[in-house]
Amino acid sequence: MKLLEDRINVDGRILGDDILKVDSFLTHQVDFSLMKAIGERLADVYREKGITKVVTIEASGIAPALYAAESLGVPMIFAKKAKNVTMNEELLTTDVFSFTKQVTSTVSISKKFLSSDDSVLIVDDFLANGQAALGLLRLIEQAGAKAVGVGIVIEKSFQTGRQLLINKGLQLTSLARIGAFENGQIVFAPADDAAFDK
Ligand code: 5GP
Repeated sequence: MKLLEDRINVDGRILGDDILKVDSFLTHQVDFSLMKAIGERLADVYREKGITKVVTIEASGIAPALYAAESLGVPMIFAKKAKNVTMNEELLTTDVFSFTKQVTSTVSISKKFLSSDDSVLIVDDFLANGQAALGLLRLIEQAGAKAVGVGIVIEKSFQTGRQLLINKGLQLTSLARIGAFENGQIVFAPADDAAFDK
């Protein structure tokens, strides 16, 4: 997505060898008009796929997932990272290792929000080694629902996530794909939605 790549070039900051900081529009301060364009793009890619729910993980997946859900006219559900006292119903749970925090946390979704009738689009802000998306896939499978595809805002293609998701038979759409960080510059690989830019 050209609009997103342009914004990453202006506002993205490379941290260390393999982290991109985009806290001015995605992971801390959120640009709603860019998020809306991202959500609508993901919805356009999956519009004919019979999606009934959009599922993400808190926190930074919520904004793009919500706009994708709005455009598809279906509910958005975000997996919660900490159990709280109001979650007293039956839960789907799994453990997810966080790439940025380097800790494993238990994530959950209430059973009442996903059923075997659902066809699900998974959405997340970043794809690195695929652990967040695979965790969401496990929750969807626990519910007996079908995961149709994965929509990612920024994929780091030099990490392992892409191949792991494709191996699961999921249709992966990454709106920006970073092939490499070279001499402090971001080198993009062709995005999965390139045809929609025209
Ligand atoms: P994965 O589970 O695919 O290894 O990593 C994806 C998750 O880690 C995302 O939900 C995101 O929160 C975080 N993440 C991974 N790489 C980056 C990065 O380069 N920058 C930021 N801000 N978050 C990242």
